[in-house]
Amino acid sequence: MTVDRRGFFKLAGLGALGLAGARSLPVLGNPAPAPSLPGPGPDGGVRWGMVVDLRACLNDEGCRDCIVACDHAHNIPQLPDRKHEVKWIWKDPYEEVFPMQTHEYLEDALHGHPALVFCNHCDNPPCVRVCPTQATWKREDGIVMMDWHRCIGCRYCVAACPYGSRSFNWVDPRSYIETIDPEFPTRTRGVVEKCNFCDERLARNQQPACVSACPHGALTFGNLADPTSTVRLLLKSRYSIRRKPALGTHPEVFYLV
Ligand code: SF4
Repeated sequence: MTVDRRGFFKLAGLGALGLAGARSLPVLGNPAPAPSLPGPGPDGGVRWGMVVDLRACLNDEGCRDCIVACDHAHNIPQLPDRKHEVKWIWKDPYEEVFPMQTHEYLEDALHGHPALVFCNHCDNPPCVRVCPTQATWKREDGIVMMDWHRCIGCRYCVAACPYGSRSFNWVDPRSYIETIDPEFPTRTRGVVEKCNFCDERLARNQQPACVSACPHGALTFGNLADPTSTVRLLLKSRYSIRRKPALGTHPEVFYLV
């Protein structure tokens, strides 16, 4: 079946509304102006992916615009105790992010510098396989989702994720959110959460919050199933790596180095 651009967004919107009802996902509000999403590939296929340009990010190492935007869009608590931190997107040193792709002579441009990390929305996600309640699952478009109402807090997924991409709510997060955005649900103590590739914004034909917020063009989100998409053209023109490739998880987040 082929789906044209208009049909695709209609389906995506309907799908999101259905999910919102069934899984208590966000209530849709007035869309803010933002760059729109690319359409489906030539065969109607959609496989969302992200390309991170590490060098563009390095231009402003102290920049946290993407993190602040994500935290705000998703009611992420700012907990004083780092042991209890909830993280959807954050920075870690390059050699921790890419332990299999570093060496002592790595050029100074990357070594010791922070790299942006978040859920890789793996094509072969171990977190999904271990969940006993199917509270986490992979959609056809590749997004690895979480249903906080089905999560029993066993933390098997936290243990299974080799990237530390999942956070557990050890305390009630709501007391630590400065301004709650009513357009996105808050979570409770005892559930796991992580980046959702802004599925609530995709349903409104908007780019993920981190992509829209980045002032350096370091983040590109798009359809990996479309050979003409910007993400595919970037991957064709620049050398890219993925995190811990030997594990066979097949991350859908690519890093230009
Ligand atoms: Fe699951 Fe971790 Fe992969 Fe995200 S990065 S899909 S949480 S295994």
